[in-house]
Amino acid sequence: MIPAKGYAAPKVKAELGPFSFERRDPRPNDVVIDIKFCGICHSDIHQARDEWGGSTFPMVPGHEIAGVVSRVGGKVTKYKVGDKVGVGCFVNSCRHCENCTRGLEQYCLDGGATLTYNGFERDGKTPTYGGYSNQIVVDENYVLRVPDNLPLDGVAPLFCAGITLYSPLMHWKAGPGKKVAIVGLGGLGHMGVKIAHALGAEVTVLSQSLRKEADGRRLGADNFYATSDPATFKKLQRYFDLIINTVSVEMDWNAYLNLLKLDGSMVVVGVPEKPACVAAFPLIMFRRSLAGSAIGGIKETQEMLDFCGKHNLTSDVEVIPIQKVNEAYERVIKSDVRYRFVIDMASL
Ligand code: NAP
Ligand code: ZN
Ligand code: ZN
Repeated sequence: MIPAKGYAAPKVKAELGPFSFERRDPRPNDVVIDIKFCGICHSDIHQARDEWGGSTFPMVPGHEIAGVVSRVGGKVTKYKVGDKVGVGCFVNSCRHCENCTRGLEQYCLDGGATLTYNGFERDGKTPTYGGYSNQIVVDENYVLRVPDNLPLDGVAPLFCAGITLYSPLMHWKAGPGKKVAIVGLGGLGHMGVKIAHALGAEVTVLSQSLRKEADGRRLGADNFYATSDPATFKKLQRYFDLIINTVSVEMDWNAYLNLLKLDGSMVVVGVPEKPACVAAFPLIMFRRSLAGSAIGGIKETQEMLDFCGKHNLTSDVEVIPIQKVNEAYERVIKSDVRYRFVIDMASL
């Protein structure tokens, strides 16, 4: 086994602190990655606080992992020592179900994808530990290649925030002539603005207030509205083809559905703790759809990274030492992050 160190939540809602553990010795198809940076996703906080239920402890969170290959198993063909790589929300899946075969491993039908942390390996008993650590061992088929022109700190959030917005933007065909709204300008939202803008859509940010307006416009938004102002919901009635909702708390989805035009869709990617209440009328009027989307498969994640490489897109990051992780969690909850905290693993 390989000795590893990181930061873990020892139990539910407890502060994270230093933690020593072991990674497996690389199997023939494994890549050992020296983790350089790891993003802090709001999902890390939900899970460390067990807001979705079923969390297991100790938990080493982190699924926005960017680093450099330090060792490869004997049968690895895709990567070599020194390559810039990353790992996202899952590290394995069944590889044979209908969805895995289609490159949609995040929707694996046989046991689900193996989560990068807060999950178990395919044996059902070995816990997985995430990216708030110095290294990780992952099968090469679940490792992504980082474009040469992109810096690793800004790339890390692409492995969750980036793909979580890229996948629905592609699926619902954001592009020239389409009016797209991004609800919530946080880690996911700011990547949504950048990617939708790069795809050529008209982009509107719907934020709680106007305090992030200058940032939103710099990131690529054409319009910016405060959802605390009731006039916003009057003015934008039946305006959007696509709304991507990244908000992590309960809100009135019906009010947002009314902003969709005929055949428009609202795609939920944020995961509030409590269920939402949806009325039939906002849906049946104007044949609207309410949908959801989870991260993206390996093939699409690589496609997203290559797209970001081509358009020189990375996340706007605030790099912190790992000792500040608990403080960062508090700031994320207060929407006080511009726009993703990324842990510099050199601080471990
Ligand atoms: P984040 O950085 O905290 O961003 C969430 C944004 O929601 C905030 O920046 C804020 O934007 C808005 N918001 C916060 N509190 C609000 C409130 N009380 N009322 C209205 N808006 C509020 O979080 P994130 O990392 O982007 O993650 C967002 C959500 O997506 C989380 O629930 C996370 O678990 C989930 N997620 C889902 C997937 C998936 O695959 N579907 C993947 C990753 C994360 P403004 O300040 O602009 O209003
Ligand atoms: Zn995430
Ligand atoms: Zn599968």
